Amino acid sequence: QETVQEKIDYVFKVVVIGDSAVGKTQVLSRFTKNEFCFDSKSTIGVEFQTRTVIIKDKVIKAQIWDTAGQERYRAVTSAYYRGALGAMLVYDVTKRPTFDHVARWVEELRAHADNSIVIMLIGNKADLADLRAVPTEDAVEFAEDQGLFFSETSALSGDNVDGAFFRLLEEIYGVIC
Ligand code: GDP
Repeated sequence: QETVQEKIDYVFKVVVIGDSAVGKTQVLSRFTKNEFCFDSKSTIGVEFQTRTVIIKDKVIKAQIWDTAGQERYRAVTSAYYRGALGAMLVYDVTKRPTFDHVARWVEELRAHADNSIVIMLIGNKADLADLRAVPTEDAVEFAEDQGLFFSETSALSGDNVDGAFFRLLEEIYGVIC
């Protein structure tokens, strides 16, 4: 453990945002622990989780922050965004309003986060194909328009979760290194 820590080249802070219940906490625990917990939300108080990965031969510690339910009260503070190099902006592909609110979250990021923050739009719960309410093309168009990266994921099956985080971390690396 100690030897791993000594070798860390960079720490990248990433924030996870989006409406309540879109799967932010589950996406995060899939990436950091390879876990999906059907009965979660006992994690209140845990501010961030980490996973150390190799990007371009460098040891990168991803420090990923969860809102821990603050978004319910629209109380995500600027402290949350401070120093963030990347953002995972999550919506639920089965709940149209969570996608319609994405523009508001982008505004929030532009207002509170650093200008160079790398944003990855995530359509989560892609496993619920029969319940889909947001066509992939709508999100692709929005992402292109706003200069965001985009991926659909399932925290439940694990599909694309690692891929989305690695893509984000690689883009951050490209921006700052
Ligand atoms: P948060 O409020 O955005 O952090 O959302 P949670 O991570 O607590 O997830 C909200 C609900 O959606 C929980 O009941 C999860 O079990 C469920 N959920 C999260 N991700 C997925 C997914 O990829 N697929 C499915 N089917 N359910 C999910």
